[in-house]
Amino acid sequence: MSKPLQVHLADEEQTRSLGAALAPVCADIARADGLIIYLHGDLGAGKTTLTRGLLQALGVTGAIKSPTYTLVEPYQLGDLTAYHFDLYRLHDPEELEFMGARDYFGPGCLCLVEWPARGGDFLPEPDLELTLSAPDCGRDAKLSARSDCGKLILQRVDAKNISNIS
Ligand code: ADP
Ligand code: MG
Repeated sequence: MSKPLQVHLADEEQTRSLGAALAPVCADIARADGLIIYLHGDLGAGKTTLTRGLLQALGVTGAIKSPTYTLVEPYQLGDLTAYHFDLYRLHDPEELEFMGARDYFGPGCLCLVEWPARGGDFLPEPDLELTLSAPDCGRDAKLSARSDCGKLILQRVDAKNISNIS
């Protein structure tokens, strides 16, 4: 697998900018093949903040609420549907089955999943894993490709030089 991409995010704005930088390439790949991104990090690490930056860059204009209780929030964006999952409060992966979430994976779907481990075996393997951690100040982001689509995203985003995200 390709080398992970690491970037320091000095403030909330930079976390949103990383989401925005990922948006166009993720949308292209999701339209063609479907795309699943796992978001890791403690509570308050910035997973929802980054997702907001990504969804806003794709044209979502209204409030982007954390799907803490609804578990998933869909966003219809023309021929693409983005699904923002927060599985922190999921008790049993079977709940995802009852919600019909199996239909959320595949071409035309972009899935961003907070707390993916709670989804157990129900969730497909990710294309990309993004881990946020909080050092003394700001956040550190690490992006690891888990599929050929994930590798393509890292190549294309790297080419745009996300280390100069500000
Ligand atoms: P999570 O979804 O991981 O629980 P949230 O995105 O809801 O986290 O909250 C992250 C918090 O950290 C927010 O208060 C946000 O303002 C802050 N934050 C986000 N990115 C940064 C950053 N790069 N540096 C400092 N604070 C940040
Ligand atoms: Mg969150």
